[in-house]
Amino acid sequence: MNDFLAELGLEKVVPEKKIKVGNSWEKRVSQARNTSILDICERLGIALSERKPDEFYGLCPFHDDEVANLHVEPEKAKSGLWYCFTCKRGGLPLQLYMDVRKKTFPEAVQEFSNGK
Ligand SMILES: [Zn+2]
Repeated sequence: MNDFLAELGLEKVVPEKKIKVGNSWEKRVSQARNTSILDICERLGIALSERKPDEFYGLCPFHDDEVANLHVEPEKAKSGLWYCFTCKRGGLPLQLYMDVRKKTFPEAVQEFSNGK
C-alpha cells in the first residue's frame, strides 16, 4: 500500500500525525458540561420554582411567557435538562446559555470553566 502511494507521489499528503487536543481544553469542556442547569439558570437570571422534587419551572427566555413553560430537571442526564412546552426548545444546560446569550460553544466553555 505504501509503495502504491509512493508511486503516485501521495505518501506526503497522507500525514499520520494525530491532531493534538490540549488536555486543558478537554478539561474545560468537561467542566463546562458539568455546570448544573440550576447554575446556568441563575447566571441567566431565570427564576425557578420547584413544583415537585427535582422538577422546576420558570419563564422561558425565548418568548413572552407568562405561565412558566420552561421545565427544568436538574437530576436528568449529567447536569440536568431543560425544555419549553411552548416553543419546544430544549437540551443540555450549556445549550440554554449559548442560545440565550448567543454564544458559540468555545465561548460558553471559556465562561463556565475555571481556566478563564
Ligand atoms: Zn419557550
